Amino acid sequence: MIVCAALIAGSVIDVGRISISVFAGQPARSDTTLRSQSLDVSDNLYLISGGGGNSLMMAGDEGVVLVDTKRAGFGKALLDIASSISDQPLTTIIHTHGHPDHTGSTPEFTEARQIIGRDRVRDRLSLLDGRDRIELYYLGRAHTNGDVVVTFPGKRIALMGDLFPGKMAPSVDVANGGSGVAFPETLTRVIEELKGINRIIPGHAVPPPGSPLRGWMTMADLQEYADFTRDFLAAVRDAFAKGRTADEAAAGLTLPDRYKAYALDNAKAYVQAVYGEIER
Ligand SMILES: [Zn+2]
Repeated sequence: MIVCAALIAGSVIDVGRISISVFAGQPARSDTTLRSQSLDVSDNLYLISGGGGNSLMMAGDEGVVLVDTKRAGFGKALLDIASSISDQPLTTIIHTHGHPDHTGSTPEFTEARQIIGRDRVRDRLSLLDGRDRIELYYLGRAHTNGDVVVTFPGKRIALMGDLFPGKMAPSVDVANGGSGVAFPETLTRVIEELKGINRIIPGHAVPPPGSPLRGWMTMADLQEYADFTRDFLAAVRDAFAKGRTADEAAAGLTLPDRYKAYALDNAKAYVQAVYGEIER
């Protein structure tokens, strides 16, 4: 099965309590195999990669919690994983944001009791207690105007959604309130809030081989990403000030060497988004 994330720009899929605007800026992915990985062998939190964005699943005492449901069509596979890690039903779904590669399967979870997205997170929301406590933060515009950071303070893990998709140029969904100009500031606010977190799961980074304890990204990687978006924005502003067009700015972009491993597939779209904002 191949489901393309880039369906029809601007169309809206109604999934009950949230509405999803389809965003063409996210690269379509054809990965169809889900892979579940315990984030700590003695713990109850699992990373599920493939099928869209990276998802987390927690086997809580009173039900399974799923953060991001992937593209449409993965509900059954995700429920199978849930029943392999817990006897409890899957009760709670959390969305990092509304894009269909993170929320597409949500309508397939007909038994879930609550679905939590940006509309429930004014600036912060806490769920559950003790080691299973989950905290959700909304800290400003970036990829969209509804990017929620999901943290598990007792496990010192945070899932970033597309606010930190991986080591790549950010994508900005302007039609859904995203902002390339605000992106670095929003990431700085996130870093200030994530005290005590030591592992960061980006929305689309490929899981590391070997031990998930050692291989996953850290706050240092998130800090580097904030620096990357700030330096990138400064380079775009500089090109704008020199009278270059967005295409010229994208073609002539030079970034510090420390970012040479970053994928720049989204760079041109990001430059265009920033130009659109600063030309206004
Ligand atoms: Zn997205």
